[in-house]
Amino acid sequence: MTTPSVTAPTQYRLVPTRLQERRDKSRTSCHLCLWRCTLRHGQRGLCQAHVNRHGTLYNLSYGIISAIDVGPIEAKPVRHFRPGSRIMSVGSYGCNFRCGGCHNLEISWGVQALDALARGQATAAYARPEELVEAAQRHQVDGIAFTYSEPAVWLEYVIDVSRLARTAGLFTVYVSNSFVTDEALTMMAPDVDVLCSDIKSMDDAFYADICRAASVDQVLASIEKANRLGIHVETRTNVIPSRNDDLEMLGRIAVWIRDRLGADSPWHITKFFPAYKLSHLPATPSEILWRAHDTARTAGLRNVYVYDDKGCDCADENLPVAAYLSQDPAQVHAVKKCAAPCCGDDGVLLKKYEQRLDSRDQSAGDR
Ligand code: SF4
Ligand code: SF4
Repeated sequence: MTTPSVTAPTQYRLVPTRLQERRDKSRTSCHLCLWRCTLRHGQRGLCQAHVNRHGTLYNLSYGIISAIDVGPIEAKPVRHFRPGSRIMSVGSYGCNFRCGGCHNLEISWGVQALDALARGQATAAYARPEELVEAAQRHQVDGIAFTYSEPAVWLEYVIDVSRLARTAGLFTVYVSNSFVTDEALTMMAPDVDVLCSDIKSMDDAFYADICRAASVDQVLASIEKANRLGIHVETRTNVIPSRNDDLEMLGRIAVWIRDRLGADSPWHITKFFPAYKLSHLPATPSEILWRAHDTARTAGLRNVYVYDDKGCDCADENLPVAAYLSQDPAQVHAVKKCAAPCCGDDGVLLKKYEQRLDSRDQSAGDR
């Protein structure tokens, strides 16, 4: 297997995939995520973000920012690492799952944007690692989060940014579905501080039905591996009515966390809102979330957090990515408005969300 060294390009270009293995004259495998796609010349992986050009794999999405935002670390959700800190979240196009309830279709799959990049017709925002770290410093955040889709599919960029971020005194958070190889985790461990990982279910059938035919054992092994490598790990389950809301199954997640990550390891239980192929399902009733919470507490898990009030998912009303990278932060936040009725008169997503977090803290404390 080869891990080509990368010098960050000053302008957009294809960057060699960090973990690739030449199989024979025409086929090369990618070892970033557990699909381990084997591709011939011209083919792209399941994530669409890696392409085989004459036997060498390249990352199409290096430095391409599909979404960017600034907010509290608790919104990732992460609560046991630098609580109260602010974080700049970024994502790129390409994901290794195809979840039926995905809220991030436009900014995570981005197949059309990746098509344009593969054709050399990129119009998306490109940020060198230095530019992104400088933008984070200008916005006076404490860390950078890679999120909105699975970060393994642009790990080349994640690692380059994380190294620079650390030298600038910033920490990094990797928000994952944990369908990630041991090799990728080993490569990122020295540079990434926090992993916040989904445990979507304990049943393979859920993954096959909703995400892709990933096995639960593979996901859990990846989370454990990250923990063993010394990355700070927190886990999250988005509870979807009639899909993964069975209390016995949710209890099994809690027991797994207790036994494998420790009774103090945080578990975040979040509310599902209708989206994409699961638009016909209702939002998760609060009662279910709190029953899952109580089940986990009874099982001995000590830090269980319920998120039952995030109803706004309209970040597409915000400024374009380039504004965050180049404009004065005060200007960015002054016009960071959402026109949707769900945001009410405030019309400022960040402010509203922080207020909601405060009230959530209160309600969690009351339990
Ligand atoms: S990162 Fe993309 S190309 Fe690589 S194995 Fe995963 S899905 Fe396939
Ligand atoms: S892993 Fe996340 S971003 Fe990717 S398809 Fe699933 S919900 Fe969407």
